[in-house]
Amino acid sequence: MEIDKVVSAIRSVLPARDFIGLHEPCFAGNEWGYVKECLDTGWVSSVGKFVDRFEEQLAEYTGVRRAVAVVNGTAALHVCLLLVGVEQGDEVLMPALTFIATANAVSYCGAVPHFVDSEEATLGLDPVRLRTYLENATEIRAGQCFNKSTGRRIKAVVPMHAFGHPVDLDPLLEVCHRFHLELVEDAAESLGSFYKGRHTGNWGRVSAVSFNGNKLVTTGGGGAILTNDEELGRLAKHLTTTAKVPHRWNFCHDMIGFNYRMPNLNAALGCAQLEQLEGFLERKRSLAQRYKEALADLEGVSFFEEQAFARSNYWLNVLLLDEKNAAERDALLARTNDVGVMTRPAWMLMHKLAMFEQCPRMDLQVAESLERRIINIPSSAFLGDGDGKA
Ligand SMILES: *Cc1c(COP(=O)(O)O)cnc(C)c1O
Repeated sequence: MEIDKVVSAIRSVLPARDFIGLHEPCFAGNEWGYVKECLDTGWVSSVGKFVDRFEEQLAEYTGVRRAVAVVNGTAALHVCLLLVGVEQGDEVLMPALTFIATANAVSYCGAVPHFVDSEEATLGLDPVRLRTYLENATEIRAGQCFNKSTGRRIKAVVPMHAFGHPVDLDPLLEVCHRFHLELVEDAAESLGSFYKGRHTGNWGRVSAVSFNGNKLVTTGGGGAILTNDEELGRLAKHLTTTAKVPHRWNFCHDMIGFNYRMPNLNAALGCAQLEQLEGFLERKRSLAQRYKEALADLEGVSFFEEQAFARSNYWLNVLLLDEKNAAERDALLARTNDVGVMTRPAWMLMHKLAMFEQCPRMDLQVAESLERRIINIPSSAFLGDGDGKA
């Protein structure tokens, strides 16, 4: 691998600027108008029309029956897990290659993350190897799945659509059926990504999306719970709004709820952002195409592309080093960041973090390899214009 050639191939796609971030938000629509409306009317906080509108827009776009807006993606995941019945002492399957939020949300429930390997084709959880693993490591008793070595119940599996690329969901659904597992999608990174024509986050019983500042659509900070189960949708709203029983003046709460509601101010930003989603996606996909062409003939690296079953949002573009060049990853990271092109490695695998070292896991050789070889390169939507202007 010739680092110089890789750096110049990346730069050939990017505008000439002193600094190019990994993923910058784009506010080119009605953001100012909607946020100003909140300030002018005084509806900035827990009540206001933008929250309802944002939830409706989101449900319509993703095709789910109900979307519930919350303060961030981690809170969304936390509530998703509670909604499917994850309890203290359960285990929850998830990829080792994910952002910390997935493992944290499981821990908030008093449950234990159980790490699964990834597959090279999607960068997400490998359903085929998961199946073989579970056949050996678990037993079904009274319609529930138990880990034979820890004795704990395995309640759910949380695939994560890494950098926007959909996990192979059909075989994963079969695994869920066979082992009595609830499917909760961590779709935090995959707004605008589809698997076999249906939106990611519309496959699990409940799913979580994030609207953090670096995601494709941002509300400043924010998240949402998606579901097709109307009853769970109602419960999601109730749980995330302090479980208050509606009444004109009484404060009666019928469960221990959470103050996870998205403020109206953030939802206003979100409504304006969602109006621009199709444009963001077009530009991001065109940026990916240009990276693909620029990096095509380089030795030692490849540009990660979507599978035939997927239509990806290309949230963060991925450069994959060949295994033999993995040792040069840090040199390439240093070189790009030195010239103002922001790049990042993948997250440190979850089982290597002190809090999760003791958690159960299958053989993680693919995730280990991907961790050594992934580099994220600048991916902001405005870069897809070709002229580098917003
Ligand atoms: C962004 C993200 C989340 C949620 O993050 P918040 O910052 O809490 O909105 C969860 N999982 C993954 C994989 C993410 O990338």
